[in-house]
This record gives sequence, structure tokens and C-alpha cells, in this order.
Amino acid sequence: MARFGSALLSRLGALSLVALACAQAVPAFAEEAPVAAPAPKAPSLIVAISIDQFSADLFAEYRNHYTGGLARLLKGAVFPAGFQSHAATETCPGHSTLLTGVHPARTGIIANTWIDLSLKRADKKVYCVEDESNPDSTPNKPVVSTAHLKVPTLGEWAKKQWPASRNVAVSAKDRAVAMMGGHQIDAGFWYVGDAFTSFAGRSLPADVTDENKRIRALLDKGAPAMAIPSWCVARNQAVQAGAVTVGTGRFVLGDKEDKRKLGDQLRYSPRMDAATLELAASLLTSMKLGKGQAPDILSVSLSANDYVGHAYGTEGLEMCIQQQQLDQKLGEFFAKLDASGVDYAVVLSADHGGVDTPERLRLQGVPEAARGEAALNGEGLGRAIAAELGISGSFAACNPGPDVAGNIICSDGLSGDYWISPDLSAEARAKVAARLVEKLKAHVQVEAVFTKAEIAAVPYPVGHPQDWTLLQRARASFDPQRSGDVYSVLKRAIVPVTTPRANATTITTHGSVWDYDRRVPMLFWRKGMTGFEQPQPVETVDIAPTLAALIGLKVPQGAFDGRCLDLDAGPADTCR
Ligand SMILES: [Zn+2]
Repeated sequence: MARFGSALLSRLGALSLVALACAQAVPAFAEEAPVAAPAPKAPSLIVAISIDQFSADLFAEYRNHYTGGLARLLKGAVFPAGFQSHAATETCPGHSTLLTGVHPARTGIIANTWIDLSLKRADKKVYCVEDESNPDSTPNKPVVSTAHLKVPTLGEWAKKQWPASRNVAVSAKDRAVAMMGGHQIDAGFWYVGDAFTSFAGRSLPADVTDENKRIRALLDKGAPAMAIPSWCVARNQAVQAGAVTVGTGRFVLGDKEDKRKLGDQLRYSPRMDAATLELAASLLTSMKLGKGQAPDILSVSLSANDYVGHAYGTEGLEMCIQQQQLDQKLGEFFAKLDASGVDYAVVLSADHGGVDTPERLRLQGVPEAARGEAALNGEGLGRAIAAELGISGSFAACNPGPDVAGNIICSDGLSGDYWISPDLSAEARAKVAARLVEKLKAHVQVEAVFTKAEIAAVPYPVGHPQDWTLLQRARASFDPQRSGDVYSVLKRAIVPVTTPRANATTITTHGSVWDYDRRVPMLFWRKGMTGFEQPQPVETVDIAPTLAALIGLKVPQGAFDGRCLDLDAGPADTCR
């Protein structure tokens, strides 16, 4: 659009005077004085939406059926092949890239959970947004903190340049709020149990208490099965995943046969997104977002897509209904934004993709799909290797519990990082690492195994992310302090979830190096823009520099791994 281009040209002179040179890996953040007015005609509100586990595959499968909010975004700048380029395709690392513009190797968020065997407490797991120095914090009941995030977010850069700018984040997940908002959040809310909450010590505004009352009323009343859109009928087929039957669910709220708590029944349904969007819209009004002296940032991460994917897989009736509801609720949300009169720009992407449950994959043309074997767990491997090498003693345990003493290796599941006990001598650790690599490589489900030294030796990857080697992908989510001693990659379509028991809420997952987990759509939209589709690969780390240019935000050179994407379909350039 011409108006983007002329606006940017007119501010170039002013900005060049304040261009900041900074070659540090982590840019200096707090010292500089506020600079530069917002770009003339810049949007006054950025609405950054993350759809948890919204793979490029889901987007491709359903895009022809969208009629609501997602149909609107299809008229904007459509990048169907966005990449969460790194190996550790989990929620916390993925959300950490969206508004920082850097890979997890620089955000420091290498996983949802990592293991710090030097921790004093019995549970050595560290949740990505917990303050483990607080004695009340556990990975399952964390005292939520943004301390692990090593870089600023877009909202923080905006606040630095324009102190009046507001940075607001809402999600069902604490880690999405913390990673999209960052350290300086004016308002940040997420869902625990059956209500929205916030950081310790912050009182809840009326927006939140009112939303919680609406949720309470809904939980008490219950809700019937959701209607089946005509285009979902063919997906209404039962599939057995261990002890769990999926494929025909319609999200009854308060079903007597559903053993989950009501708050969880809501969370594992499109109703969670509806509540999250309702709260975001309420904050839009009460905080007058987009009507202040500087651009505001509203981050909304919609988690139901991920809960539905985990609990029911990606190709059943449940995900079909979820996609339809998501599209409709986003449409209602955008209508509220329109009614506010605010000139807003939207970006929508995802923290990672996903893959269907292996049982249905096998039925539908992927015979090699399988569940990862429990033998790949670090604790079992650690015991076996300790016995083989004659290593004994009392070593740090992975988890609290009576039966873990003497183990020497911890992992968070069947793949990814493996940590070796720091209580061993350097010589013993080297022997254990070598034996662990040997054992993992010999396993029929393992594609590749890398040592910490091998990953650390790889240059920081650049270039088209679809061409990156597996080692480069691992490098992009590697942190020398937090990452494990060994990194294991499962073969394509091996899902690291063992056979589900009755009432299991996770039958499949993401987190792999494969493109079904790495590829996500990236959609940009603003009223009046001329849309286009660009199928070339781009990266989620491109989102922050793209939005920064759009609003006239100046950040130090080197602050972003990504590049600005020109959102103008013609000769003007929103990046200049
Ligand atoms: Zn996620």
C-alpha cells in the first residue's frame, strides 16, 4: 500500500539520526532515552495472535472452509510456510520467538521444561516460566516469572521508545503470556483451574473477575454437544488410541461420563478460546488500547487448538469443530476491534505445529507411524548404563520419589535433551555420554543423536529454514547453560507418547525436528491493505522486525535474528 510506503519514507531522516549500533549478542536494552515518534499513519494497535499448535498442515486443510476471522486474514499478506525453525518445537520456545525476533538459542527458552541437576530441591525439573528460586514454586505449580527469557519482546521495545505504550497479553497458558509479553507486562492473564489469574501480587481487574464469573456460570450450567458443520461430517469416525476412543467428540460440558474437572473440560474445548477472546476484548475497551499516545501491543494466545490436538489428535471431528469455532470466534473478536474505531494491524501465527495420533496416521497412509518406546526414557537408560559401567553411588534424581536414587541420566520424555549427573567425574561423564549416544543410535526409532559439543560447534544457522540440517535445527534451540549433554531425534512419525491409559488427555504431541511441527502459517492483515500470498519459506523470527518497521520502532542492529517482511504488495516497501 502506498500509504505505508510514504509514511515510512517520511520518517527515515529522523530515524537515521538515532540509529543505534550494537553488536552484542543480547542487545543493551535499558540505557537509551526514548526516541522517535510512531510512524505517521502507523497502526495504533498491534494485535498479535498465536494459535497454539496451528500447523501449516491444519491451515492448508481447513483454509477453504473459513468464513470468519481467518477468512478475513486470508485477504491480507499470507505466508503459508512460516517456520519455527528450531528443533525444540514446544510451546514455550515457540512463543519465545514470536515477538522477540530471535531463536530459542538466544531467548534461552530451550524447552517447556528443562532439568537443572544442581538444583537444591528434590524436583530437578525447571518450568520455563517459573521462578525456581522461590521455595513455593514447583514445575507443576509454578510461581510464574519471566526471568528465564533473555531478550526483550516487541512490547518492551515499544515501551522503551514510547513509555506510554501498553503491553498486554492474554492466554489460557502462563507460558504464552510470559513469552509474548516479556518482562514488562502492563496486564497479563492466564487460566488456572477454572479461572483467569495473573502474576503473584497483582490484583485482578474487573475485566478478569467478570470473565471469571461468566466462566463459573457456564461451568455450573453446562453446555450441550457442539453442532457438526457439514464439512466435518466425514471426519466423524471413532479411532482407538490405547484405552482412549477419539474422533467423534463434540465437547459436551458437564458430561457425567467425563472424569475431568469442569474447568479442564472447558480448557480442552473451543470454549476456552471464546473466553480468552472475550477477556481480550474486554481489556481492549477498558484500557482503551490503541487510543493512547503510542502504539499498544495486545498479545492473544489461543490454547484450545493445542489441547484439542493433544487430547484427540489433529484429524478427527474434534479438531474440525475446533477450527470452525476458532474461525467464528476470531471473526467476532475482529468485529469488536472494528467497532472500537482503532486502526489496528493483526499478525496471526503459531508456536509450533503438530501431528495426528499414530493410530489414525497408520489408518490414513502413514504405516510407519508409531508410539515412542518407554526404553528411550533417560532414567531407564541411566540405570542400565550405570550398571554396565559399574558406576554406583547416590546421584541427583530427576524427579522426587523413593525409587530414583542412583540414576545418572535424566530426560523430559523419550527424545530431545538428556542430562548426565554432575556428581560424576569428568571422565565418568564422558564415558556415560559415549555409551548413551551408542545406545540411542542403536535404537530402531532414533533418527540422529548429537552431543552438546557437536551442537555447540555448529555456526548459528541462517538461510532458508526448510534446508537446515537436523544439527542446525538443534543449534537454533541450544543454550550452553540449559541444554542437555546429549540430544536425540526420533524418526519422522514416531510420537513420543507411550500407549494412552484410560482418561489420558495426551494421545499425541509435537516437539520434533520435523516440518509437521516446525511449519506454521504467518498471516498479516490491516484494513485496506492489498493482499498477496507468498509461498516462499519465512520464519516466525521475522514477525517482530516486520511489526517493528510497521510502527516505526527502532531497535539496535543485531537485535533480531529475523528480517522485515515487506507487507506491501506493490512497489512501496513497509520495511524501508
Ligand atoms: Zn504449544
